[in-house]
Order: sequence, then C-alpha cells, then structure tokens
Amino acid sequence: MRRVAVLGSTGSIGTQTLDVIREQGDLEVVALAAGRNIRLLERQAREFKPAIVAVWDKKAAEQLKTNLADTDIKVAAGLSGLVEAATYIKSDIVVTAVVGMIGIRPTIEAIKAGKDIALANKETLVTAGHIIMPLARKCGVRILPVDSEHSAIFQCLHGERANKISRLLITASGGPFYGKDREYLKTVTVSDALKHPNWSMGRKITIDSATLVNKGLEVIEARWLFDVMPEKIDVVVQRESIIHSMVEFEDGSVKAQLGTPDMRLPIQYALYYPKRPYLTGDRLDFREISKISIGEVDRETFKGLDLAYLALHIGGSMPTVLNAANEKAVSLFLDGNIEFLQIYDIIEECMKAHNTISNPSLGDILKTEEWVYNKIEEML
Ligand code: NDP
Repeated sequence: MRRVAVLGSTGSIGTQTLDVIREQGDLEVVALAAGRNIRLLERQAREFKPAIVAVWDKKAAEQLKTNLADTDIKVAAGLSGLVEAATYIKSDIVVTAVVGMIGIRPTIEAIKAGKDIALANKETLVTAGHIIMPLARKCGVRILPVDSEHSAIFQCLHGERANKISRLLITASGGPFYGKDREYLKTVTVSDALKHPNWSMGRKITIDSATLVNKGLEVIEARWLFDVMPEKIDVVVQRESIIHSMVEFEDGSVKAQLGTPDMRLPIQYALYYPKRPYLTGDRLDFREISKISIGEVDRETFKGLDLAYLALHIGGSMPTVLNAANEKAVSLFLDGNIEFLQIYDIIEECMKAHNTISNPSLGDILKTEEWVYNKIEEML
C-alpha cells in the first residue's frame, strides 16, 4: 500500500487529494499538514488516522494537541512540524499542496529524504527550479506534476522519451475577465475576480488566473519540469478548459490531453502514475461539445504573462521577485487594500528595483523574498 503525506490537506488541492484517497481506498495517509484550520484538520486526522499532523500556527497546534489527546496522533508545529510531516519516515510520496513560498523548504527536505513528490505548490519550481530538479535527479525521486496543465504535458510525454519536444502549448481559460480592457479592469472587485469560469480553486490561485500571473508561473514551472527553454513554451487561450495542454513534436505532430475541469484527475495521475484506476465524475460528451476554441492571449491588458516571461529570461533571483511581489500584492488585493491593476504595478516596480542574483541559493531566495516584502512596505 502506497503511503502518502499531504501538506496543505485543508485546502482546495489537499481536500481533493483526500477525496481521491477516500474513493480509491488503497492508499494510506501517514501525515497531514495545514496552516491553522484545525477544525477540518481534526476531522481529517480522525478519519485517516495519520501518524503525525502538523499545524503552522503554534497556538492552533496546541489546541489540536488537546483535541486529539484521546488518539496516538502526534501533533507538531511551525516550520519544523511541516518538515517533520514532509519527511515522515513511513511515507512514499508527499503531496505538496501548501500555498506560497513556504512550500520550498519541506519539498527540499522531502526530496532529500527520498520521497516522490506530487507537486501542486508551483511557487517551489518558480523560485527554486534550478535547485529542486537537479536535487531530485541526484536523490532518484520523481517530481510528478499535479497542476492540470503540467499533468497534461506529462501525460502527452508518456512513451516519448526518445523524441524531442518542439513546443509546449500551455492552455489558459482566460479567467473571468477574458475579452475585457484595462478601463474595465480599473473597477473590478475582489468578488468579480474570484469568479473563475471553469475551475474551483483556492483564493490566491483564482486571482492569479484573473491576472494571468498564474499562466506565467506555469510557464516558469514548465521550463524546469520538462527542461524546455522559454522560447519553446507558448500559451494559448482555450476558453472551455477542455484541452488541458499540448505538446508539439519535431515531426509536427501535436498531442493533447483532454478532460473535464476536475483536479481529482491530475491528482490521481500523480498518486498512481503510470496507472489510471477508475475515477468517478463527469466525462466529456463530444456530442454535447459544440466547439473547442483556441485564441490568443491579450498580453497588453493582462501583463502577468509577459512579466513572467521577462523574469524567466532574466533568470536568477528574478522569478522569486515576480512570485513574492505577486504573493504580497494578491493578499493586499484580497484584503481590499489595493486595486486589481495595482497587482501588476507592484510586481513591475519590484522587478525594476531588484539587482538580480544569478544562481541563487535557498538562502538567497529567502532573502530576496524578504527584500520584496520590505520594498512593497516602502512603496505603500
Ligand atoms: P488553498 O488556499 O485552497 O489551500 C492552501 C493550503 O495550504 C491549506 O491547507 C492551508 O492551510 C495550507 N497552508 C497555508 N499556509 C501554510 C503554512 N504556513 N504551513 C502549512 N500549511 C499552510 O490553496 P490551493 O489548494 O488552491 O493551492 C495550493 C497550491 O497548489 C498553490 O501553490 C497553487 O498554486 C497550487 N495549485 C492549485 C490548484 C487548484 O486547483 N487549487 C491547481 C494547480 C496548482 P489552512 O487551511 O489551515 O490555512
């Protein structure tokens, strides 16, 4: 029986991972971790009976310890707790579904401990892809993508090891503001931005989808996951979210992966790779689908994509600046402190002011993150 640790188990990806595990019934949950939602974490702990649960917030961890006193489950706290859950000796695979750069350290430690990684936390590869991928190769562990676009590419590449990739085509739904102009975006609210047309996701990634920063982060992630240079990675709008991404090979053949917008599928593919056990849920009905449209991204209005290409082109610590500035700006937007378009302004200002560190260490990446947060405080 494969043993699984789920970091970020109370979030959108985390709960859907547990849905898959519950449905299949042949995986064992050995570790869970969350930020502070101990009500849900306690329910999950009682249902799945892991050996360890970790809570970031130390007060909440104390409370959970009291609540679970009638069980054998160990409760750990803070960063050390998160790392303990990520490296728990009896796990085979770690699902990294925490949100934000906090995901980097536990992922690195899990790789060093020889665990396969089902990677949802995109910030990890965006900021530290140059560290993570060689480390995974050295430690002989697999990085299995959970993000639907990367899972689609990963599925298209199955059996194609001997063939060269000519182009990756990442699809974008276009988000809730597709077809709108900058004038319109000046007045959009948080609740407008949280209305994604096709996918149900966590708040941060839903805003990232509206700005198209999410697509930019995915381009950077794809660069590292599949070792493909940026000029060979394109983004196209696929409004209906039926094609989850495509790969073009040197002979001109294009492979695509299609499906309904259901994150349980890529999660399950990562957990069971390369097997495809039966999964309940809707199926594509090609008699009902009237069209599958492909369009161009409006890069002038939705600057998130080009900012990401620029950060990737500059390299070094610049993708960390893009990511950290975006993380902070999105949280300011969600709290009602800035307007939608200011997310781009903040990212741009930070990128302009940053002196790039080439080949940054983990320490440099964390220092860069801190520099960005200080810079934004100064700016505001
Ligand atoms: P959510 O906001 O829904 O969930 C985030 C999870 O991380 C929660 O369990 C939260 O715990 C936990 N968490 C937050 N901070 C900490 C911390 N310091 N220590 C431990 N746990 C913490 O996010 P999503 O599930 O939407 O996204 C997770 C990651 O997956 C992101 O990187 C996102 O970009 C990526 N992703 C998400 C997709 C989606 O469909 N949702 C698709 C592809 C990628 P708590 O609930 O207690 O706060």
